[in-house]
Amino acid sequence: MKNLNRKVAYVLGLTFFSVLQSCTNDADVADVESAEESVLAISDAFPEELHNCGYVDGNWSSTAFLSNSIGTASETNFMQTQNSKIASVWGRPAVPLSFVKDNVNPNSTYNAISYGSGKIYYGEAIYNAAKAQGQIANVMILAHEFAHQLQFTYGYPSKNETTARAGELEADGMAGYYLRRPNGYNKTSFSEIAAAYEFAESIGDNNTSSPGHHGRSYQRRSAVRLGFLLGAYDLDAASFDYNFFYYYNGVLNGTYKQEKSEFFNPELDKYIRSYTKELERIKNGEMTDEEYFELD
Ligand SMILES: [Zn+2]
Repeated sequence: MKNLNRKVAYVLGLTFFSVLQSCTNDADVADVESAEESVLAISDAFPEELHNCGYVDGNWSSTAFLSNSIGTASETNFMQTQNSKIASVWGRPAVPLSFVKDNVNPNSTYNAISYGSGKIYYGEAIYNAAKAQGQIANVMILAHEFAHQLQFTYGYPSKNETTARAGELEADGMAGYYLRRPNGYNKTSFSEIAAAYEFAESIGDNNTSSPGHHGRSYQRRSAVRLGFLLGAYDLDAASFDYNFFYYYNGVLNGTYKQEKSEFFNPELDKYIRSYTKELERIKNGEMTDEEYFELD
């Protein structure tokens, strides 16, 4: 009897230990992955697995489910094509893009999440809201989410800012870059991009409880603009990361002089510096909305 009790206690102990393990072990992704397929409320358990950003706030509801399609077949094709194109502009393989729907509580899918395990989940509600603004808003959001994949892969942002927003600023910049690139979304006029960005940020803000995400951010506006300007040149991810922070921190803040790296380009430097005053005014909140939305 005594022995048996001890054995039961041992087995229970093992079970308890393994439960603890599966709850705390980050490497135990297989279990999480299979759980995600049916129920998507996993972001609380593995916060480090995903990147919360200005457009999203962590959780999918318990009635949400994954889908391979969004809208019509041609809309699905559009989003998957953009997903591949964004990755290709950065010289990377695409990550799987899935859509999240919730028939019980449709508004719960006002989310787009980039996961450290290499995938993007895109909510139907945020898709529909962005689509009403024009598909460029969905492209903006998707390009921003893929930027987080680049950050996961390469350990960007390379520059530590005092603000935790460095990653968001860079992702906004990368989205602005993609929208301009001729082999990307090929938008040569900034005004359309600015409108899409403001909209993308605003629908995210409605859904976030994080104080850091409220209100308009002039810093983020200037990041999108800088990314767009950098899009006049063909940069890879490393070069973008270097140049983005070279100008965003080093030049605009003027607080320190950064080393010129192999990614420094005198021609690009001349071009970006011709916009320094303008970027400073955006970043400092000194440019009116009217002027900002009419930038070339
Ligand atoms: Zn983000």
